[in-house]
Amino acid sequence: MKTLRDKSLAFAQEIVSTRSNPICANNEDYQKDFLYRNAFGSHETAKSYWILHKNKRFGDCVALARNLLERIVNSSCGSKSPTHAVELISYELSEKIRHCKLWKPSSNVLAQLNATIKVHEKILPDFLRRLGKSTAPDWNWMKRFEEAGLPSFYRSAYFNFSTYVHAGYEVSRPEKYNQQSKTADFIALVAPVLTAANYHKVDCLNCQRGKCDLRDKSMALLHDFKARTLGK
Ligand SMILES: [Zn+2]
Repeated sequence: MKTLRDKSLAFAQEIVSTRSNPICANNEDYQKDFLYRNAFGSHETAKSYWILHKNKRFGDCVALARNLLERIVNSSCGSKSPTHAVELISYELSEKIRHCKLWKPSSNVLAQLNATIKVHEKILPDFLRRLGKSTAPDWNWMKRFEEAGLPSFYRSAYFNFSTYVHAGYEVSRPEKYNQQSKTADFIALVAPVLTAANYHKVDCLNCQRGKCDLRDKSMALLHDFKARTLGK
């Protein structure tokens, strides 16, 4: 009998194994590409999650659950409209450039860093032009959770998952470390299915008509995962 984990990964595998057209010409293409990247990343990270889980590395599972929750939020925001996706891409590019410029490395690394900045600075104006803006709109994580309709997750699960991600005083509490988290398991099951379904639905005519077998299957899986991890 298939486990919940198998059902989650199998659903996503079927969808992310085909990528229609990675070449982007318009905002709709970029939205699809953004959703694909989050779906593919969710599927890969969830596979790692379950390897750690099988080996009872629950503390490390939580660190990956944080990443998976971010992918859920990205995918949910990006699926709202092509503009949402392009705004998110432009914000992430802007942040990469900002962080790169904060780094003051040695001269042998500097050339490589400058080349990276140059590549990002060459790409960014095209996204800003698509938005008709001179700077990227701020898409910080709190705003993304709110837009995704998950503000309570920002204050609860995301906060808890972050505890052991950053090196700090918390790690010195061995009795609290490595405890299995039902919430993390729930996120690890949901992320591949939800992000794959969002990628699928963006250009599925059946989904747009409100009658799609694949969408129905995803909803049934999400309800099943919730009932069997978090309960009622
Ligand atoms: Zn569909």
